[in-house]
Amino acid sequence: MPAIFESWDLTVPPVPPRTRLYPLEPIGIGTPLVESLTGYVLRLAEAHALPVGALTRLELGRYTFTTIPDPLPQNKKNVYSGAPISYATNGVEEGAVKWTHALERVTLRKDLHLLTFLAFGNFFCSLSLFRRLRTWCPACFEEWRTSGDTIYEPLLWSLKVASVCPRHRERLISICPHCQRSMKPLTFFSCPGYCGRCDGWLGVLQEGVEREKISAASTEYWVSNSAGELLALAPQGKLDSGLLRRAFRKNFEACVNNLFRGNRSACAKFIGCTATSVYNWRNGAAAPGIAQLLQLSERLRIPIGKFLRVRSAAGVRDWKLIKPAACGYTPPIVRHRPAKETRRALKLALRERPSPSLMEVARRLNYRGTEGLRNIGRSLCKRITDNYKRSFTPEPYYNGPRPRICDRKEIRAALKAALAQDDPESVPRIARRLGYASSGPFLAQFPGLCREIHAKIAKQKKARIRAMRRIVKQALRQNPPPALRQLVVRLGYKDKKVIGHYFGALSAELLARRKAFKEREAAQLRRRLQRCTCKEPPPSMGEVCRKLGLKNITASRKFPNEYRIIVTRFLQRRNETARRRQVWPKSVEYRGQISGKSVACSHHCFD
Ligand SMILES: [Zn+2]
Ligand SMILES: [Zn+2]
Repeated sequence: MPAIFESWDLTVPPVPPRTRLYPLEPIGIGTPLVESLTGYVLRLAEAHALPVGALTRLELGRYTFTTIPDPLPQNKKNVYSGAPISYATNGVEEGAVKWTHALERVTLRKDLHLLTFLAFGNFFCSLSLFRRLRTWCPACFEEWRTSGDTIYEPLLWSLKVASVCPRHRERLISICPHCQRSMKPLTFFSCPGYCGRCDGWLGVLQEGVEREKISAASTEYWVSNSAGELLALAPQGKLDSGLLRRAFRKNFEACVNNLFRGNRSACAKFIGCTATSVYNWRNGAAAPGIAQLLQLSERLRIPIGKFLRVRSAAGVRDWKLIKPAACGYTPPIVRHRPAKETRRALKLALRERPSPSLMEVARRLNYRGTEGLRNIGRSLCKRITDNYKRSFTPEPYYNGPRPRICDRKEIRAALKAALAQDDPESVPRIARRLGYASSGPFLAQFPGLCREIHAKIAKQKKARIRAMRRIVKQALRQNPPPALRQLVVRLGYKDKKVIGHYFGALSAELLARRKAFKEREAAQLRRRLQRCTCKEPPPSMGEVCRKLGLKNITASRKFPNEYRIIVTRFLQRRNETARRRQVWPKSVEYRGQISGKSVACSHHCFD
């Protein structure tokens, strides 16, 4: 039979895989304002017209603990039981891996890990990385609403180190302007841009609160901006914390060598961290925390990317060209002496008669102790100390009178030279430098010169004390009076006893004024706390403490009565609210029906 009709092709055409949920596109990947994973969950819930709680519990819950690939242990305790998800979900720990995996599975998207710190591997530790409470920039929300852009929550807002919005230079806030309460990042009915408690629009400021622009030169702004730059780096980095660690180590080493001439302690002092941290970062034993990294970048005013980008060998030269934009930065003076020279000085000391002690040699070479010298030439140092010890044994009388250590002329010249200096060396020090055990022979031979040196030193000391007295008196007039510890640093000392030693009466007066100031401050705090005890609705202790800039523990110790009243009232209010909530139906309700707010209903790809 001739073929009239072509035969049917019965093979099934390729069908792209279906997704369980709508594969919403994440916002701002590769920019400082990249969306956070928690924010993505909010938007995903909104897109499906579901309360967040229902989405996480019914749709995502089953994927977060059953199908996580090894090496993560399946820990039954981590089963999500409807408790609010915290910002730590944007971090690097197990929770973040699980939620990212669950979301990527239901949306078939491959880029959701870029909404968390997982993109940086294990370079950062989640510990104290994130805020506990939901935080936002009202100006951003309002701007997106009026321009019709999608409202979302950037990852930057969840970071503890970021306190300022880099776009608007305004402070981020975490108290709802309508109900004056803080909230968890995700609650059952959270919605992008709306309060999770009262459903109020978060793009406005509280009544009576003025918008305050943060200066572009301020530390807060720099740190927040740099944190954004750091987040923008995420897609460029491979998922390899080892690579980042190596890059940081190499860059930091170059930074210390070129900007601080290899002086570790100068670097630590300038950045404001410990010398041990600098040591550990340089040899790769530890990576800095995000706050430390931002502090490093802020103090030197060098963009954060410079520390984390992997460079080629040619790129390393950049560090020599980099000039820190920090104010008060001066490269440290080099005090380095090659080991060869030090060894030569030690050999010379060995031949000296009378033999100097090793401490004396160290002092001459500007060392604080003898350890550095011993590291350079252990056997030479041993011979010097042996010589010194031997020099104490009495010379046998038959050797005749002992030779003079110094000529009379030489001593006179040394004393006169000291006297000619602005800051003269003391007589005992000159004697020690010339090899004498005490300054007795000097005083006996040149009493006049010695007295003049003493007088000059005493005069300078008096002038110094006068200057210090002026500073102390100035501090007395200051309001509030500074603490003794701050004042002593201003005077150039470490121990605060110095003030009492030189200016007993002034120090007592300052202490009394400081005490009075502290009492006034405490009384004022007590009054403000008392006002909070009758506020409606009763605030929580945490809110009160944040408002007053007080620590919880301080409040409970110093103002136990007020503390008790506030806590009790808040607990009563919470119990009352919980009782009222039980009236809510247990089943899943759609947000749209409950709040009457219109919800975007996008194309869903249910299978
Ligand atoms: Zn903003
Ligand atoms: Zn609210």
